[in-house]
Amino acid sequence: MEWLLTPGPVRLHPKAQEALARPQLHHRTEPARALFLKARALLREAFGTEGEVLILTGSGTLAMEALVLNLFAPGERVLVPVYGKFSERFAEIAQAHGLAVERLDYPYGAVPRPEDVAREGFRGLLLVHSETSTGALVDLPALARAFKAANPEGLVGADMVTSLLVRPVALEAFGVDAAVSGSQKGLMCPPGLGFVALSPRALEALRPRGYYLDLSRERKAQGEGESAWTPAIGLVGAVAAVLEEVMPHLEAHLALKAWQNDLLYGVGEELGLKAVPAVRSPAVAAFYLPEGVPYRAVKEAFAQRGAVIAGGQGPLKGRIFRLSLMGHYDRYEALGVAALFKEAFADILPAS
Ligand SMILES: *Cc1c(COP(=O)(O)O)cnc(C)c1O
Repeated sequence: MEWLLTPGPVRLHPKAQEALARPQLHHRTEPARALFLKARALLREAFGTEGEVLILTGSGTLAMEALVLNLFAPGERVLVPVYGKFSERFAEIAQAHGLAVERLDYPYGAVPRPEDVAREGFRGLLLVHSETSTGALVDLPALARAFKAANPEGLVGADMVTSLLVRPVALEAFGVDAAVSGSQKGLMCPPGLGFVALSPRALEALRPRGYYLDLSRERKAQGEGESAWTPAIGLVGAVAAVLEEVMPHLEAHLALKAWQNDLLYGVGEELGLKAVPAVRSPAVAAFYLPEGVPYRAVKEAFAQRGAVIAGGQGPLKGRIFRLSLMGHYDRYEALGVAALFKEAFADILPAS
């Protein structure tokens, strides 16, 4: 048995595995349409929006690109705080689509403050809620509020890839107009689906754009329980099955995820490890490597115990390691992982 401790893909939910074992559905049949509509309704509830959620076949990055392409026009000014690999990606996508990008650069691990984004003259603000590359969590409602006080017509786009089903989210209540996620993180399904949640305000701002990524065309098709092109319908079934199981107990699920991540940080503290993020996301625990210990040694100590972990990205490559219990872990399995973490470090840092 392998312990997947990476922040995506994650250990699958048993309901996802069960759904994936079912026979193939044709996507333009009644059972498929019913499944698609069920997944959309549950996702709408999970994102906390009165608007709509569109399901796209592709990874989370595709959903980020669809959001940027469909809500903003070339030349429009967008503000993009960069504090990790995924916020960097948001800036790069906006640049690739010809937007006038104003970057606000932070050291990896830090988070932007509301006063930093209270700047006039912008059509949009792009933020990553849970910066998986550093383990940092930003105060989305406070940032959205500060931005909109300066730009009442502006739109806030948020990456909720590792906050959906990991900590409370709600689009309109947060002042967020559009948000994205993917199937392989908090949803505990395999990779392959991206989601774009659009508030009523974002739905109004939608203009036809592109081809495969045209959300206006998708919206029309998905209203009928279909999608414009062939969807990964098997994964849609897995997502519906997991949400059907988790949503009625969402609060308990989020409390478990928070407790589990605190447990990992607690072990790290005991071992004298320094945490990376200024503010901690419950999606992942990120630690600096101890002086003189290469990432390879940490990875190997976990691998010997059947666990797969993640290293650093961008400027943090070779400087940190990351552990995540975002996947399907119960309380006792998490305690087992905590014990494994201690054991691995007993090998890495023999008592002197
Ligand atoms: C995983 C992740 C993504 C999407 O990455 P894909 O590999 O394209 O699925 C985007 N943002 C964050 C914060 C992530 O953790």
